[in-house]
Amino acid sequence: MVHRTGVRKPTVDIPMDKIAYFFMFAVFIPADSTSGRLHSLDRMQRLEIICSNDSQYEILRSYENHTDFEFVSCRHNFDNHTEVYVAANSLDSFKEELRTHSIEFNVLNDNIAELAKNQTSRQKREIPNGFYDFGHFPSYNEIKSHLQQLAGIYGNFVHAFSIGKSFEGRDIMGIKIISGIKRKPILLIDGGIHAREWIAPTTALYAIEKFIKARIQGQFSPDIDIYIIPLLNPDGYEYSRSSSRARLWRKNRSNFGSTCLGADLNRNFDIGWGGAGASSNPCSSEFAGVYPFSEPENQALRDFFKSHGHLIKVYLNLHSYMTSILYPWGVQNLSSPYNSETLNKLSTEAAVAMETYRGTRYNFGSIRDVVKGGATGSSIDWSMATGTSYASFAFELPGKAYGFFAPASEIIPIGEESFKGFMVFARFVESISSALPSFIENSRIQEDVIPLKTNLSYPRP
Ligand SMILES: [Zn+2]
Repeated sequence: MVHRTGVRKPTVDIPMDKIAYFFMFAVFIPADSTSGRLHSLDRMQRLEIICSNDSQYEILRSYENHTDFEFVSCRHNFDNHTEVYVAANSLDSFKEELRTHSIEFNVLNDNIAELAKNQTSRQKREIPNGFYDFGHFPSYNEIKSHLQQLAGIYGNFVHAFSIGKSFEGRDIMGIKIISGIKRKPILLIDGGIHAREWIAPTTALYAIEKFIKARIQGQFSPDIDIYIIPLLNPDGYEYSRSSSRARLWRKNRSNFGSTCLGADLNRNFDIGWGGAGASSNPCSSEFAGVYPFSEPENQALRDFFKSHGHLIKVYLNLHSYMTSILYPWGVQNLSSPYNSETLNKLSTEAAVAMETYRGTRYNFGSIRDVVKGGATGSSIDWSMATGTSYASFAFELPGKAYGFFAPASEIIPIGEESFKGFMVFARFVESISSALPSFIENSRIQEDVIPLKTNLSYPRP
């Protein structure tokens, strides 16, 4: 049975049907250590696999819980490709199996340890006025003090805040860049929900500085409030920085009393919880947690959404590395969002704007159209279903050439490129603010236009 132990205990018991659910589906795989999955990066390879039929997929799926394998973009619908990181130990036998079943594959990176070296290539430089150098991937402490420093310098319109504490007790820090005393419609951006996606927090930090500079210089400064939370999962992030073997860690660091730690925070929201794309195995990278909102990081974000009424008009949840803009739903059995057309239009415009920078081509679509089987328990589905955000997107940053191991030299180009997309969303928030003031001020209107009530049956605590 799965129990949480440690810093915070659940205030509600797990119901009997939930326990039965876990016994039915949990497959407990012995992990490499008490911390869960750990892989040596030395001679680890990133493979691209092209399955041409379902039985080939099933062969791949049989490796999903193996500790030498880390699957990403599994069941990707754009091109039918699946990507997997395979530890050196299992490479030969796995490739042999693929060949036996005539499954096509390519080696994208032949030694991950070499790629990882590019992430720590540059020396830190001191930049005046509180700006960070964007030449390295910063620690949690660096991010925290950087945000506090920015708030200290630009205190008349920049404020630092914490939305709550992580499982290990770190503050989940954010910045708001405001346009005046009166509250305005909000663009919310968060990064780092998945620990190993290091380019997401730096892209969020880059956006903070671009928005601040824009306001100082009086350029394209939208008349909205901008909230940015660059690192939603500080414990997982710090763990992924702690050793090369922990580098591919995705979850937080909750202790459920299982052999393995951590829940996938983007499977823990109360929307289709525990369904497709999530796992009931605590050792899986996509473990959904023990009940919806079991994780303190999710509770903190939920409360943040709720405390901002219906002012959050666009929510961008940063990830890497599908080079895609994805929107609700990830859950299968809901009718399409009432504002699907707007979601699609904004994604298209943002993709076009980003392509102008250096030709990067973003895909877009609903999660369930893009990822076979969809995904459940995500922040973007939950925020739109509850009406706490008008339009939510999973913003998957690029990484085709290097996967999770973006070189430090890519921090600035990806920051610049993404910012062109962010501005499309910022301008949209501004436009609905001026066109439809009642839409902003009157939360009942927002509620009225939400046709969604989650009619999914899943156990609740
Ligand atoms: Zn992610």
